[in-house]
Amino acid sequence: MPRGRHGPSLRELHEALVIRCEFVERRRWTVRDLRRDNRSVLLWSLYFDQPCSRQDLSEATGLSPASVSNVTRELIDEGIVAEAGSVDSDGGRPRTLLQIDPNYGYVIGVDVGETRVRVELFDLTMTERAKADYPLDPGDQGVDMIVDRILTGIGTVLASGAVDPNAVLGIGVGVPGVVEQGPEVLVHGQTYGWEAVPLARLLRSGTGLPLSIDNGAKTMGRAESWFGAGRGARHAVVCLIGSGVGASIIAHGSTHRGATSSAGEWGHTTVVVGGRDCRCGSRGCLEAYVGAQAILDRYGLPLSGDQESALAALADLAGTSAKAAEVLEETALFLGVGIANLINLLNPEQIILGGWSGLLLGGRMLPAIRDAARRHSLRHPFADTSIELGRLGPEAVALGAATLPIERFLNGTAAAPVETSRSAS
Ligand SMILES: [Zn+2]
Repeated sequence: MPRGRHGPSLRELHEALVIRCEFVERRRWTVRDLRRDNRSVLLWSLYFDQPCSRQDLSEATGLSPASVSNVTRELIDEGIVAEAGSVDSDGGRPRTLLQIDPNYGYVIGVDVGETRVRVELFDLTMTERAKADYPLDPGDQGVDMIVDRILTGIGTVLASGAVDPNAVLGIGVGVPGVVEQGPEVLVHGQTYGWEAVPLARLLRSGTGLPLSIDNGAKTMGRAESWFGAGRGARHAVVCLIGSGVGASIIAHGSTHRGATSSAGEWGHTTVVVGGRDCRCGSRGCLEAYVGAQAILDRYGLPLSGDQESALAALADLAGTSAKAAEVLEETALFLGVGIANLINLLNPEQIILGGWSGLLLGGRMLPAIRDAARRHSLRHPFADTSIELGRLGPEAVALGAATLPIERFLNGTAAAPVETSRSAS
């Protein structure tokens, strides 16, 4: 900064004043923030590495033994953390192990898919306690019906899990389509006829519990990176393949959202110029070739059962029917091309295939998919990318949705469950 001969300029004085005000402001907040930050850092660490000792926590978080001791006492007093036996330490006193009390609170995860609505109740350590599943008729994505299924499911899992609603920290919902996270959460499902649907407001008619809503591919991506195949990956793409096709892009360890949260609409990237009509109104999209309905349409012959069983039947036919084998081979090729585009564009360490259809196709054709990806991507980034199946099964969307309220809890921004209700569980 240029400095005049006669002392600081007006601008420098102004900047100095701003810095001083910020400093005073920061000092005012420091003690409370520090306590909350320490608590959050410790909870995150314990959540993923429990059970562990106070010393482990101090080493993992960099917090002093005194801070760890203070925070854990607070967490034990509140019932969030419990002691869980002890382990011998080298020559010293045995170390007490700590763990999160799974029954401190509960979360609900909802997967709104195109073939079913799934609602699952989990305890705080993500053990499933109850679930409800509502198959949907093909193409039946009416907003009122979906809202009704979700609310019925919430009531059902609370009743069958014998959990008081007051003990629930929150509900996470994964939906197909773009979820706009503005002052009011709006769902834009261009392929199934939802236009700016205020889903949170509609669900408010039947539940007062805290709600978080996100795109289903993004919630599945969270599940696989918290607990599944993507654990520890800094750069990954988690691909959700069902009726629709989407992806969750993990960059630098967190979900990449883009300007309006629509990043990851992988299914609507073009793989054939002027190709098959896509439900989005465009042509030649990846989803128009590898989406479950698109695969069945390309096969063209009748198969019995709903979309999920029809695709499984098609896969079974591949051994005896040349037509079925050809459709599946072509599907592996298109999927490999789509994956190659992700590899060239994003340079991920990992590509994880999930979703009910992705797991079915990947389970049978992973070598062919990998080979097609290799042939259509640059050698160098391909060599550093693993392509594998998700480890959490087709319920990963609901599990990931349930991590939305868990994240708020670990960050210290979720309300505590109501005290009186905890004994009800
Ligand atoms: Zn499309």
